[in-house]
Amino acid sequence: MSDAHRDAEATRVVRAGLPPEEAYAPPLPGPVFAAHYHLPGDVDGAPYTYGRDGNPTWTGLERAVAELEGAAEAVAFASGMGAMSAVLFTWLRPGDVAVLPSDGYNLLASLRQRLEDFGVTVRTAPTPGDAQRELLAGARLLWIESPSNPGLDVCDIRALADAAHAHGALVAVDNTLATPLGQRPLALGADLSVASGTKALTGHGDVLLGYVACRDAGLAAQVRGWRKTVGAIPGPMEAWLAHRSLATLEVRTARQAENALAVAEALRDHPEVTAVRHPGLPGDPAHALAARQMSRFGCVVSCTLEDREFAERFLAGLRLVGEATSFGSVRSTAERRGRWGGDAVPEGFVRLSVGVEDAGDLVADLRSALGAARRGELS
Ligand SMILES: *Cc1c(COP(=O)(O)O)cnc(C)c1O
Repeated sequence: MSDAHRDAEATRVVRAGLPPEEAYAPPLPGPVFAAHYHLPGDVDGAPYTYGRDGNPTWTGLERAVAELEGAAEAVAFASGMGAMSAVLFTWLRPGDVAVLPSDGYNLLASLRQRLEDFGVTVRTAPTPGDAQRELLAGARLLWIESPSNPGLDVCDIRALADAAHAHGALVAVDNTLATPLGQRPLALGADLSVASGTKALTGHGDVLLGYVACRDAGLAAQVRGWRKTVGAIPGPMEAWLAHRSLATLEVRTARQAENALAVAEALRDHPEVTAVRHPGLPGDPAHALAARQMSRFGCVVSCTLEDREFAERFLAGLRLVGEATSFGSVRSTAERRGRWGGDAVPEGFVRLSVGVEDAGDLVADLRSALGAARRGELS
């Protein structure tokens, strides 16, 4: 291999974070279950001391995530919320100003309430049109979510990051929906890429996990300090399952993106569907910008149906798409977002997470369920 050669993503992802090959050792060492480690003498420089501070299984996963995000270091958390809280509460102090999206992940509203309880001023604006840019004067931190969940709107990460840095603000991007193979926030100018690993990153619907990927080691040390203090640590088993799942991230997300586009096109062309959103759909209001900053468009497609009852009949009529929340699994799921409250969406709004099944089967199932919903069938 010449020095100039850089392996393609699909090649790198199957080995991301693995230790050097060693005779008779497994390629991915199994999970290390340890509350404490043998720790003779001086503790300075000891890589592993106590289980809340560090774990070799986390280290492997964190190396892999840092590699994929193009980060100096990554820090793994028990969940996406653990990772988000780490960023917001590490850098925001009473009197500080934070700029959040008004249309992001629905628990951002709870985080906003906590921040305000602690004396942080929170300003919000919607994701489309880079509307957050107008609120940056005096801000300490800008939080971006692009594409946004569940609205699937996109903002210009590079333009917003540059504007925020000009105001001296730190920039964090929620990269959950895109995954690091779909979008690299740090390469677009962000300081931190934060994600829920529960979704497409791990992709099997069996793990809760989060991470913060950091532009430099100083930021990572602060995030690690927060994790140690609040104890929002991932279990070794979860960290290991996540690392194991990364080997298939490229094939999973490639197939999911391909299927999502086929599903979005079929829904767009269907008379029972009022509106469809998917950043990969040519003609989607977010497509041009998404195509500039994303390399694949994710597995989420949303559609708006006539009303709540129609959407419920549609969901009940699906055979291959399970009714469930969350997204990113290899198995397709869908839900009516209005059932939770909190998202500003119509009653007939359905968020679909497209899996790795055969695209033709999925499209046929969606068409059949739309037909059944029209005929008033509740299967
Ligand atoms: C799910 C989700 C989160 C929260 O992650 P958990 O792992 O469920 O705590 C944060 N941001 C986005 C965009 C999400 O979809």
